[in-house]
Amino acid sequence: MRPKIAAGNWKMNGTQSALDELDALAGMLPGGSTQVVICPPAPLLIPAVARAGGIAIGAQDCHAAEKGAHTGDISAAMVADSGATHVILGHSERRVDHGESDADVSAKVDAAWAAGLTAILCLGESEADRVAGRTLDVIGAQLAGSLPDAARTENTVVAYEPIWAIGTGKVPTLEQIIEVHDFLRAALIDRFGAEMGDAIPLLYGGSVKADNAATIFEAENVDGALVGGASLKASDFAPIVAALAVS
Ligand code: PEP
Repeated sequence: MRPKIAAGNWKMNGTQSALDELDALAGMLPGGSTQVVICPPAPLLIPAVARAGGIAIGAQDCHAAEKGAHTGDISAAMVADSGATHVILGHSERRVDHGESDADVSAKVDAAWAAGLTAILCLGESEADRVAGRTLDVIGAQLAGSLPDAARTENTVVAYEPIWAIGTGKVPTLEQIIEVHDFLRAALIDRFGAEMGDAIPLLYGGSVKADNAATIFEAENVDGALVGGASLKASDFAPIVAALAVS
């Protein structure tokens, strides 16, 4: 039985007053075993942990190195020291805006694991890749290149996030989501064996909202969602969590 996970990526949004949304969210959660993770901007990690209640807190990135001359970066150990338990890695906004390669992402995932964090590894094709019929090739290459061999079930979550669906309001059809998630499941089983490959949670991300979440969660290999815009307000995110809890 894989865990159900609803993760919110606040991106570069929110100052300390945004933490009121965490309090509100904590009061709206359905209970049960669905895991909720909120990934606020780095300056909010420590106060978010202090106010999170049953909500796990994650970072949005970390550096691959343990420490050193990397102005502006934060290490995985710093993230863990804040009390956060998760870190998003390989988000397309990092891959595109910061030129992160699969090898860069893989090194960050290793660093996250070494610090005791759970990595939420993001993969996704561009619109051009999708139109050209290259989606599965791109996703397969990203998975092979950015998920290290030392993956374990307890510290690994994979999120399929088509770039063209992020923040656009465009959502793949359920059939397209099923195709990619089934492909990822098969690739994980092929690489790590049936038991582990079947146990790693797969999230869908890209314009998930309260009104489309239940449909997306119908897919057998969708174990939850990574949500951007609709995670900023508790009143938008709580219904997504609720839809996951009953899926
Ligand atoms: C994201 O950036 O991870 C994301 C899924 O964003 P949105 O939900 O806003 O499309």
